[in-house]
Amino acid sequence: MHIDKHIAVPDPAAGPEVYRQHARNWLRGNLPEFMRADSPDYRTPTLEECREWEASMYQAGLAGMTWPRAYGGHGLTLREHLAVNKEIGALLMPESVSSIGKELAGPIIMKVGTEAQKQAFLPAILNMREYWCQGFSEPDAGSDLARLRTRAVREGDHWRINGQKIWTSGAAKAHYCLLLTRTGTVADKHRGLLMFAVPMDTPGIRVVPIKSIDGKESFAEVFFDDVVVPDSARLGAPDDGWNAAIRVLSIERATNRMYRAWRFEAELRHLVAACKSDAQLAPALEDGYTQRAIGEVVAQIDALKGLVEQTVSSMMAGESIGARGSLTKLYWSECHQAFAGLALSLLSQVGPHSSAQARRARKSFTQAYLFARAETIYAGTSEVQLDVIAQRILNLPKDLT
Ligand SMILES: Cc1cc2nc3c(=O)[nH]c(=O)nc-3n(C[C@H](O)[C@H](O)[C@H](O)COP(=O)(O)OP(=O)(O)OC[C@H]3O[C@@H](n4cnc5c(N)ncnc54)[C@H](O)[C@@H]3O)c2cc1C
Repeated sequence: MHIDKHIAVPDPAAGPEVYRQHARNWLRGNLPEFMRADSPDYRTPTLEECREWEASMYQAGLAGMTWPRAYGGHGLTLREHLAVNKEIGALLMPESVSSIGKELAGPIIMKVGTEAQKQAFLPAILNMREYWCQGFSEPDAGSDLARLRTRAVREGDHWRINGQKIWTSGAAKAHYCLLLTRTGTVADKHRGLLMFAVPMDTPGIRVVPIKSIDGKESFAEVFFDDVVVPDSARLGAPDDGWNAAIRVLSIERATNRMYRAWRFEAELRHLVAACKSDAQLAPALEDGYTQRAIGEVVAQIDALKGLVEQTVSSMMAGESIGARGSLTKLYWSECHQAFAGLALSLLSQVGPHSSAQARRARKSFTQAYLFARAETIYAGTSEVQLDVIAQRILNLPKDLT
């Protein structure tokens, strides 16, 4: 895999457009052909190949844009972050193998971590030395996270942790878990929650992979059986876990993987090109029903871009994301699920005699379709987002009965 390591990152003062041009040139010049989902040479990259690619992106100034220079970041603003994300989305490259570290753990460590924690964790996330997973959900605590039972009990300078997490993405490869625990009883609900950075090789941690509908084992159950960590593993004050968790969730809903709208647009280009490449599929593009359905997808992608731009402007003006993250989360997940359904129905005619491009597209949209089932669940289900929007944005009464 050849990647240009002699990189001239533009002067931060140059502005987002110059940065976007730099991102475009570098990504297009260096993304290996086999990593592009729409390329004839595509194959599933290994974890090590993804790691190497993302480490190079960081060297090129395309990760950690808003993080302070003191912790390995580039000290830029969300405008440059968005500009780079537009270019990342425009190419069908592999999804980040470290997004939990870069987009959830990193920001919360910057907010509540000690200086020593920032120095220890943040550079290692950016240069892809350490991966993180997010240990929030439990068998009886998903939408209602405040019901979580995993207990942390203080014993002098240490904490003893017992409990179980579930649906923990990337747990099998993670070096650290951003773990949400409680110090009191379940009746305490939001009070007495505490967050930790737990090394995944600590004795007493057991990871049991779960196979999902797409055949992958990307998440797992994680059991904590008398896991002992020092007090220095604690992230934030003992009673501040709920505030920290809410902050993580609002980041996850609003700004995580900001490239989505631009990626959906690239997927749509891929779909249309694949249909055009095949004599049997091409006529469907002339059909009024299909044209209307594609038009709706285009309009939804445009609206999603607007929401993202608006979020960035608000945050640049110093406003917090708050409940508005639910609007973005609801919108992108519902939009992508509908789009993936449309793509698969268009490609349903693909058979052994179809064009190679159409056969490749069918394979990649089947994966997208299956994963899209999960998109309206993780980071909070659509029903939960609707609840948040109803109560906190529209101020509707909590109980309408
Ligand atoms: C692919 C994937 C990856 C994930 N990765 C992680 C991870 O890395 N770390 C992690 O901690 N978690 C992860 N999760 C878990 C995810 O956050 C939960 O699945 C999600 O919060 C829903 O919780 P639950 O599965 O317990 O469903 P439940 O909360 O039991 O919900 C069941 C159903 O009831 C509905 N419902 C629940 N409450 C309400 C309500 N108040 N009003 C209306 N309807 C309601 C829900 O919408 C849903 O349809 C992942 C999930 C998936 C699918």
